[in-house]
Amino acid sequence: MSLRFFAPLLVAATLHAASPTADLLVELIRVDTSNPPGNEGKLDDLIAAKLKPLGFSIEIFPTPQPGKSHLIARLKGDGSARPVLLAAHADVVGVEREKWSVDPFAGIIKDGYVYGRGAIDFKGGLAVFAEAVMRLARNKAPLKRDVIFMVEADEEGQPLNTSWLAQTQWDKMDCEFALNEGGWIMKRPDGRAKGASHDVRYVSISTADKTAISLVLTAKGTSTHSSMPRPDSAIFRLSKAMAKLADYDTRPELTASTREFFLTLAKTSEPPMSTYFTNLATSKDPKKVAEADREISKDILLHAIMRNTIAPVLMNAGFRGNVIPGSAEATINFRAIPGTNAADLTAEIKKVIADPDIEITVAGAGRGGRGLSFDNNTRESKTTTDLYKALADSAQKVWPGVPVTPYLFQAGTDAGAWRSRGIPVYGIYPYPISNEDLSRMHGNDERVPVDSLEQGTDLIYRTLLQVAAK
Ligand SMILES: [Zn+2]
Repeated sequence: MSLRFFAPLLVAATLHAASPTADLLVELIRVDTSNPPGNEGKLDDLIAAKLKPLGFSIEIFPTPQPGKSHLIARLKGDGSARPVLLAAHADVVGVEREKWSVDPFAGIIKDGYVYGRGAIDFKGGLAVFAEAVMRLARNKAPLKRDVIFMVEADEEGQPLNTSWLAQTQWDKMDCEFALNEGGWIMKRPDGRAKGASHDVRYVSISTADKTAISLVLTAKGTSTHSSMPRPDSAIFRLSKAMAKLADYDTRPELTASTREFFLTLAKTSEPPMSTYFTNLATSKDPKKVAEADREISKDILLHAIMRNTIAPVLMNAGFRGNVIPGSAEATINFRAIPGTNAADLTAEIKKVIADPDIEITVAGAGRGGRGLSFDNNTRESKTTTDLYKALADSAQKVWPGVPVTPYLFQAGTDAGAWRSRGIPVYGIYPYPISNEDLSRMHGNDERVPVDSLEQGTDLIYRTLLQVAAK
């Protein structure tokens, strides 16, 4: 056999041995679970086939929608402590296929990355969690508590999500604490620091999620023939209100976690950014805070976690080309700091728009306008539990010297199903990524580094050993 023939085989074999988690992720991406409809059941079957031979007991819970189900796998401990649970959603958002440079459902490994829809959100995490619990089972570590692994349906869709399942199957999901998606393990933009063994800037673990509030603005006018316009155009009135909102931004509101997060950023950045982060977190001088806000907000993620964000998402006006419509409507989706209430937000927006003829109504509170109430999601999970501590300790082992901080997650997750019942949930996307990788989430050419998947698996495996092994 010529070397030319042999070389690719060797490379393939090396890659294979290098990352079981990446191999599993490739398999998961190849099952298209774009929601709607989701078809999460296919993924449940794939995971069940892998876990069953390792001693997990498996239950699959169908939903009223054919093909959509939840899976709960349990690895038994001796029962002397309450279970630890890992939850990962199986569904993904759809794709704009023509904007991808690779097939989003082929699970292609290229240039050290796994490409595909869900690589970051959250099939990457599903692969990491699955690989970590399988490693635990293979190594037969005696456990003091059950380890529950849950493959969730309908996280990107609703209403048949985890909160729906919890209404009837809570006893199967009950635990002392849980892990799901949330905080970020961010890489340094400039690579490895001098003398450092890794390029991770910080590990953030989410202890609360922002919630969604949608307000509908409605302008009314006279509906008539477009040849004789009147001064009371609903569309113009709404447009003026929207323009005012476009020029407005809410003030920073830092929760205790967000303050700690910004202080971590201060420690891990250079001047002048380190000064801005410190000022935002600690200064009482409104000028300094405003300057810090302006500079820090150039990063849209940081802009989002320190305030209630304002996003216009729907507009509806008019139905044909020669009729002036009698009303125009816009839906504004706010992502709110826990504790914000819809009435206060409405009052604030009313003031900004300053037009009594624009009607403002609350379209829905909680995730995506449905489901969870504010109270359900405002309970921040404490950082004093064994699970948080195990995560923080394990992060130190995998990335020595890395700062670990709690974090307010900028979007919503399924954590509310547990947090609403007083169970702490910690969120993490368990793989170091760059800002550039992060911007591809829910976007095009979503990808995750292969070596990050391995590091993440190490992190979660060590965490489980610390928290669940005898
Ligand atoms: Zn997700």
